[in-house]
Amino acid sequence: MNIFERVRASVTMKQAAELYGIDTKRGMINCIFHNDKTPSMKLYDDHYFCFGCGAHGDAVSFAAHVTGMSQYEAAKQLCSASGIVHNSNEPFIKPMIKRESQREQETNAFRILSDYCKMLRDWRERYKPARPDSGPDPLFAESLAKLDEYEQYCNVFISGTEEERRDFIGNRKDALDYAGKRLSEYYRNDSSGQTVGACPRMAG
Ligand SMILES: [Zn+2]
Repeated sequence: MNIFERVRASVTMKQAAELYGIDTKRGMINCIFHNDKTPSMKLYDDHYFCFGCGAHGDAVSFAAHVTGMSQYEAAKQLCSASGIVHNSNEPFIKPMIKRESQREQETNAFRILSDYCKMLRDWRERYKPARPDSGPDPLFAESLAKLDEYEQYCNVFISGTEEERRDFIGNRKDALDYAGKRLSEYYRNDSSGQTVGACPRMAG
């Protein structure tokens, strides 16, 4: 068993979250990946899933994100915090984990960007002014203001180089966070969290 398998076999998702001081009594917590005002992240025994932004993973990726450590370092910390004996002679696997983590970050980023674009395209049709003299709907205005910009971001992940993708993830966290926040606000009352086009419009 390697260190990741050992953590998976021994530490539940709730135990991992509690190790970092997060209250898990209700089974739902505030998402650690997006600016979450009401708990959107559900903790299952062996994984987490955010109904707001779609983030998902296991106890190790959770711990890595909370602490900013690599997955390997986070797994070691979960081992020692939960009393699992860690065999320090196991093969050095850090570089492999790092590539995996980069790919995961890109997959997550692209999903957030493309979901937000889908939502903006939907709003462009759904909330277009009924008459020329009616004031613009705020969602229609947001679509006008943001869609071109976010389609360019999507293109970084569709046709950009590896370096461009890495730069985007490193430097444009603000753009990602904003898209995640907007998705979350419109997904919040949609328990399936799957179909952007079917999202109910929130009041106000
Ligand atoms: Zn989230």
